[in-house]
Amino acid sequence: MLTDTHCHLFYEDLKNNLSDVLKRAEELGVNRFICVATNMEDARECLLLGETHDNIFASVGVHPHDAKDAPEDFVDQIYDLMTFDSMVAVGEMGLDYFRNISDPEIQKDVFRTQMEIAQELNKPIIFHNRDADQDMIKILKEFPNVRGVAHCFSSNLETANAFLDLGYYISFSGNLTFKNSHLPEVAKELPLDRILVETDSPYLSPVPHRGKPNEPGRTRFVAEKLAEIHGVSLELIAEKTTENASSLFQISE
Ligand SMILES: [Zn+2]
Ligand SMILES: [Zn+2]
Repeated sequence: MLTDTHCHLFYEDLKNNLSDVLKRAEELGVNRFICVATNMEDARECLLLGETHDNIFASVGVHPHDAKDAPEDFVDQIYDLMTFDSMVAVGEMGLDYFRNISDPEIQKDVFRTQMEIAQELNKPIIFHNRDADQDMIKILKEFPNVRGVAHCFSSNLETANAFLDLGYYISFSGNLTFKNSHLPEVAKELPLDRILVETDSPYLSPVPHRGKPNEPGRTRFVAEKLAEIHGVSLELIAEKTTENASSLFQISE
């Protein structure tokens, strides 16, 4: 059993074929899903899925790309949505200086606001970080009581260790399987009790499915790669990453 800790099931490719997508995932041993929002609209779609499926959980947050379009009352909306049982985390939130779709100052502002909410509610966060390691570490340090996960980790070992020191989990996606990736070298150094697996589907298809829309079942290939890197069985990776997800998101197995 594996948990895809980061998928966007509300995208057309996945939503319109959801029962098939979930069935294929089950066949690959992936049977729990965190449906992660990027804005208030899709948070409602995640919530609907979470409230109607025992094995789907949801998050609500504003992605750095969406920060510039966050509605004025997004804080109230997050508090409202977080009252539902299937809502397990605040996110995704964070910084993306690779694309800078929102101005960095706006990104930081909206990120800090959501960190305050997570702190207040004592809920974990799911953060997105691209080309923003230093600012990311700085802001995480401002909220020492907040815990969460560095989703789709793509930075170096030094940054991974900084996140671990701050109490965060590191989540690997399909990019762990990409040819010439530096990530296996990083993953090898990390303790198995702090690693999560995800697809970020419909993005980032792992080898051997690159170029096709990704789906949650392919968490399996990320887990297999981790097993290879650590020289352990797939079963052990499944057990550890599932335990880690249960512990971080406070969900039972
Ligand atoms: Zn992301
Ligand atoms: Zn995402």
